[in-house]
Amino acid sequence: MRIAMISEHASPLAALGGVDAGGQNLHVAELSAALARQGHEVRVYTRRDAVRQPATVEVTDGVTVVHVPAGPAEPIGKDQLLPYMGDFGAWVARQWRDGTWVPDVVHAHFWMSGLAAVRAGRECGVPVVQTYHALGTIKRRYQGVKDTSPRERVGYERALGRAVDRVIAQCRDEVAELVRLGVPRGRISVVPSGVDLQRFTPDGPQVPRDPERPRVLTVGRLVERKGYAELIQAMRLVPKAECVIVGGPPADQLARDPLARELRELARAHRVAGRVRLVGAVPREQMPRWYRSADVLACAPWYEPFGLTPLEAMACGVPVVATAVGGLTDTVVDELTGELVPPRDPAALGRTLRRLLDDPVRRLAYGTAAVDRVRQCYSWHRTADQLAMIYAAVSAAPTEVVA
Ligand code: UDP
Repeated sequence: MRIAMISEHASPLAALGGVDAGGQNLHVAELSAALARQGHEVRVYTRRDAVRQPATVEVTDGVTVVHVPAGPAEPIGKDQLLPYMGDFGAWVARQWRDGTWVPDVVHAHFWMSGLAAVRAGRECGVPVVQTYHALGTIKRRYQGVKDTSPRERVGYERALGRAVDRVIAQCRDEVAELVRLGVPRGRISVVPSGVDLQRFTPDGPQVPRDPERPRVLTVGRLVERKGYAELIQAMRLVPKAECVIVGGPPADQLARDPLARELRELARAHRVAGRVRLVGAVPREQMPRWYRSADVLACAPWYEPFGLTPLEAMACGVPVVATAVGGLTDTVVDELTGELVPPRDPAALGRTLRRLLDDPVRRLAYGTAAVDRVRQCYSWHRTADQLAMIYAAVSAAPTEVVA
């Protein structure tokens, strides 16, 4: 099958470089590779953001990245990209109209890609599948005035949900949110993201650590909603243990990062500064070593659309204590692969971490079940299989061409 992916701001090529790639870059890169391994031909359309970028790049056998000229060829924040989505969609439609490569289906990632996909899809009779990755309603609820998304976002997300052929939700919580938004339930399928099971394994090297000191690890971009402040407060209730925070800017730039400074100040105020360590950004290939060094992964966001880090930890055999929000309520099975606690509740988080660190038998049981669960339910192979079935179903149905 010929599959087009549109990922307007998140290039899969950035994911290979590692450091500044978020979940979406990685998702598009790994999903495309998994589909290509199953024999599909994938083209990923992403915005050209540098003058020297080649028009196309063949990433692996079966996956080509196409750089779309829409807006200036320079980096632009995603919240400023909306005005260029019309040009993006029109350019893609022109490519498909000339007939040399016409996809059977187009899968859009993020709402703005959806706008471009619907435009090109309607012009060329190509069915559209949409994954939002994050929803404007949730962002606005938690970030309020700090949310810099275009104000049209929620309206477009609702309209897209009704215009596309199928919406992919990554977890049950997202289904509920989409239905509240007005997307018809019958148009939504749940297909979770996968995790790289070749890279993330229980056996292998780990970073050196103090064997006398239990290690609580947390991983993610340094943003407030990831809940590092609550974790630092929780550490008061977890004597002797160290808290290792991986992510954010490179280590030598942490001193200039406002949130890193705030967190260090908070650790001092709570008298846990000697037991809290900020590591900064870790390259992707080093991540398994960090997970394997941990006794437990703490994942304490206020909200989380999906959340890859618990799955990566689970694939390394590490139990997870997570807040019961978003995708984490699907991936972490309470009292089987880890434990769920209420969000923004340092006391509950601290008590749970302490209990688990005092109980090696339970940690081993959780870690073993975690590996099983990830291998069964979250391989990229499985995700690609499920999506390929959906692509086949939507492309079998007649699609209207709007001139
Ligand atoms: N990550 C990384 N190096 C770091 C911090 C994070 O490679 O220093 C990776 C992490 O392994 C995970 C991704 O970044 O694959 C974060 O994805 P997640 O879904 O947890 O959060 P997002 O950034 O999409 O909100």
